[in-house]
Amino acid sequence: MFSLFSRLPRLHRALIILVVVLIGIVMLLPDPKSLRDEKSFYVIGQPYDLAIEPANLVVNKSATPLSQLNWQTYTVGSGESAAIVFQRANLSSRLLYNLTSASKEIEQQLTKLRPGDELQFGFDGDNELIQIKRPINAYEAYVITKDGNSYKGKLESKEVNYQYNYAEASITSNFWNAAINAGLTANQIMELAGIFGWDIDFALDIRAGDSFKILYQEKLVEGEVVDRGQIIAAIFTNQGDTFKAILDDKTGNYYDENGRAMKKAFLRSPLDFRRVTSNFNPTRRHPVTGKVRAHRGTDYAAPVGTPIWAAGDGIVTKSSYNQFNGNYVFIKHSNTYITKYLHLQRRLVKTGQRVKQGQTIGTLGGTGRVTGPHLHYEFLVNGVHKNARTVKLPQSKSLTGQAKQTFMANAEIRLKKLERYRELLAYNQAAAQE
Ligand SMILES: [Zn+2]
Repeated sequence: MFSLFSRLPRLHRALIILVVVLIGIVMLLPDPKSLRDEKSFYVIGQPYDLAIEPANLVVNKSATPLSQLNWQTYTVGSGESAAIVFQRANLSSRLLYNLTSASKEIEQQLTKLRPGDELQFGFDGDNELIQIKRPINAYEAYVITKDGNSYKGKLESKEVNYQYNYAEASITSNFWNAAINAGLTANQIMELAGIFGWDIDFALDIRAGDSFKILYQEKLVEGEVVDRGQIIAAIFTNQGDTFKAILDDKTGNYYDENGRAMKKAFLRSPLDFRRVTSNFNPTRRHPVTGKVRAHRGTDYAAPVGTPIWAAGDGIVTKSSYNQFNGNYVFIKHSNTYITKYLHLQRRLVKTGQRVKQGQTIGTLGGTGRVTGPHLHYEFLVNGVHKNARTVKLPQSKSLTGQAKQTFMANAEIRLKKLERYRELLAYNQAAAQE
């Protein structure tokens, strides 16, 4: 073949080489038609086979998708430890030991269980425990995951978004019922009473016709309302007086529209308003002398044993007993202010002791000369008895300077927003009635 080729004339040989090279180039060039086919080969929405050889698949147990675990939920019962819950779930104490020794944090999560807590156990196809979830609230859970021969724990939280909501009520008989009917939660009612509790005695001074309006936050997870957030602004009208309170984001405290703190140096009532059953008759006849005694304090009727709080910071000047006062406590708050608490069942402070506002100093009782169990509470200003429910309390800390300017600008926006929500609610209610 080569001898034949070499015997050809030079020009022929060159032409043959040229033709072979050209054929080679054309063969290597992509065919324009096959390019078009390539482009239209995969059609959207059309199923195609993947070229996976079953023989090449590798079994990897740790790769069990977490989304395919088989979940079992256990609720922690009263007095139950993790060990007991594990027993109920047919999990070994060895496994619990391995978990708690994996990290301090995991140990804390599993040893500080409270009744009502939930433990969710996730098992793979071989019934091996792969994950434990402990929900904390609607958007947070502590999650422990098997990692090789050990375990890793972390706090997982879903994204929380916020939106505003509004509620209002006019009180006909009872603050608590009015607030529940307006859709407030027990927590919100206590928060509301806490915000205005410095100006209004919720135990004795709520009257029919009082009203409130509140703008509050709601927490949203995946588009669903899961919890209530803070009260943003609130207006309370009590016996004709209107109080406004707006949240200051920077301090987390509430101030009125002029930047004055809602919190005062004294609690308006020295016990939980929810436990007060009735207003005592202040001009009752004395059971022994039969005379109407001048009454110089406020009487709160509540169940025996109700905790009694110090109205303000101060020093106990007297913690003692006599036949008239029964068990009694006097607190000096400054050179100006003294508060007195009479007829206690038990005294929980000693003469000379320093106390903090809200500290429990004793429990309500019926000791001394009384017709029934109640707290007799006195408020003295410069030695003179004043009505604790109406006395003007010392001016509390106000915001100043830039903090005040920022707050007041925000307060205006928030009160306007509250008003817009009020109008919207009124409009919707009117529309619903048509
Ligand atoms: Zn009294």
